[in-house]
Amino acid sequence: MAKTNAAVGGRAGIDFRCLNPECGAAVKFNLTEVGSPVFQAVCPKCMATYELDSELRGKLARLLNLVTAIRNAEDILGDVNVAVTTKDGELRIPYSLLLTRLNSIITLDFGGRKVDFHLWIEPSSPETFR
Ligand SMILES: [Zn+2]
Repeated sequence: MAKTNAAVGGRAGIDFRCLNPECGAAVKFNLTEVGSPVFQAVCPKCMATYELDSELRGKLARLLNLVTAIRNAEDILGDVNVAVTTKDGELRIPYSLLLTRLNSIITLDFGGRKVDFHLWIEPSSPETFR
């Protein structure tokens, strides 16, 4: 049975470097929060606030949809490998490792600047990907 967004557990966080050149702290927020039009990200160090425009919120909402789709397929992805051919033969990397151990970076236009957003996701159950 397909799970709804609300039923999908785990966390999907995103962070970016504070745009204040004298700060540079990581501004973190939960991907599920960006759907709200009044959402603001706040830098924990210099307290700068960031309002995300509707276009950027739309992109992050679609990213959340992607994370949700991955979560819904967790039981299948546990059996999926990505094969990389090297000179020594085929190397198999579990898909789950790609999703949970490697950092995904999405570069988006934010107030006229290209900003790297780091995406970190956790599986809904720690038992899923071992
Ligand atoms: Zn800051």
